[in-house]
Amino acid sequence: MQLRIPGPTPCPDEILKAVGRQMINHRGKEFGEMQGRILPKLQQCFQTNNDIFILTTSGTGGMESAVVNTLSPGDKVLGISIGIFGDRFIEIAKAYGADVTTLNYEWGQVANPDDVKKALNDSPGIKAVLVTHNETSTGTTNPLRDIAKVVKDAGKLILVDAVSSLSSINLPVDEWDLDVVVTSSQKGWMVPPGLAFVSISEQGWKAHAQAKMPRYYFDYTKARKFIPDGQTPWTPAISVYFGLDLALDMMLKEGLQNIFARHARVAGKARAWVKSRGLQLLCVDEKYASNTVTAVKAPADMDVAKFNATLRDEYKVVIAGGQGGMKGKVFRIGHLGLITEKDMDEVTAALDKALPKAKKI
Ligand SMILES: *Cc1c(COP(=O)(O)O)cnc(C)c1O
Repeated sequence: MQLRIPGPTPCPDEILKAVGRQMINHRGKEFGEMQGRILPKLQQCFQTNNDIFILTTSGTGGMESAVVNTLSPGDKVLGISIGIFGDRFIEIAKAYGADVTTLNYEWGQVANPDDVKKALNDSPGIKAVLVTHNETSTGTTNPLRDIAKVVKDAGKLILVDAVSSLSSINLPVDEWDLDVVVTSSQKGWMVPPGLAFVSISEQGWKAHAQAKMPRYYFDYTKARKFIPDGQTPWTPAISVYFGLDLALDMMLKEGLQNIFARHARVAGKARAWVKSRGLQLLCVDEKYASNTVTAVKAPADMDVAKFNATLRDEYKVVIAGGQGGMKGKVFRIGHLGLITEKDMDEVTAALDKALPKAKKI
């Protein structure tokens, strides 16, 4: 089976074996040593010296942790949305009482740093900016370096959803001065769902000291207190830690730059297939097309549900449909984590076979 959705992604056999290990005491030496090995390896992948926490939750929990740990009810926030996940970040901030101004773009577009600059100038009271690095619902990657520069030049906090990019697409957290960055285990990390990883900068900690949004499970102060003892405040998803320890070794052995280059090559193959079949990317400017997920506009005569079912049942390839308002209008090919060019060749061969069988009746 080729599982080619943008998370959960396939895991190597060695990692599946590791996650099947017998349980250990999460307050014991072995767990402490494992977390002690994992955190510096995560710092390498985040390209940061900032504190990193491993939270037992999915990516959305990581996003929620970023919001509640740095903001207070009533804080003015700029939420940038280029798709479903940008909307989600905004919804979370609103749910906890932030006063959110939104900067929305049509699906397939990316955010324009000049618009961000203008929005910050127009509302000087804005404290933080919420932004998605890679918008999984539309297959586009925001120009995060330029957006971050505008935000940091204005002295604001930047919270980044990097759930479907970090480890697969270059994201130098320290170089770009990103305050809170969130990702999760089931995307580019070759491990099962269950863990989110977050980094927090010095400016992020300063904001945290003032932040009054209600929080308990996700409190970074509690998380930080347990690090020196090699623990987490609550029972962690130990099995996923076992896999992660090994996955990080595999990733660092391959080398970050090599991983980014592999994702770029595989994504290039996916886009070449789309164009060669006369199809269109949802991403308007190919310069911003994602290297982890390709979203394709369904032709008018295509039944996306039938296409995806045919791929799965007849050709053992699982891809995703469109999310929210894009349901039935888009199909998405995930290509992150454990994937080679050969895998993508198999996927496109299957797409070719399923295409003629996916016409609307
Ligand atoms: C997958 C994803 C999330 C988080 O989803 P969960 O199901 O909560 O793990 C958040 N943002 C982006 C961009 C994603 O791709």
